[in-house]
Amino acid sequence: MDACPVCGVPGKSAGTCRNCGTDLMLLHSTSMMAASMERIAVTRLAAGDARGAFDASRRAVFLRRTPLSDAIHGFLRLEAKK
Ligand SMILES: [Zn+2]
Repeated sequence: MDACPVCGVPGKSAGTCRNCGTDLMLLHSTSMMAASMERIAVTRLAAGDARGAFDASRRAVFLRRTPLSDAIHGFLRLEAKK
């Protein structure tokens, strides 16, 4: 997490924002889960499990959209149409 979504103060704290006191734990947990889903998608694709890769990438995008998660999911969507 680059900055607090409430006050915008930059920092990598996973607990509470040091500026405004917002609890960032759920946001941090969601971000970590999304990163895990991205890794699972790539791992499953490498193992030849296209369906599992697609499902994991869809979950990653749902949890947190990033350029990487969009690229992985976009690639798998195109592959699914072939
Ligand atoms: Zn804050």
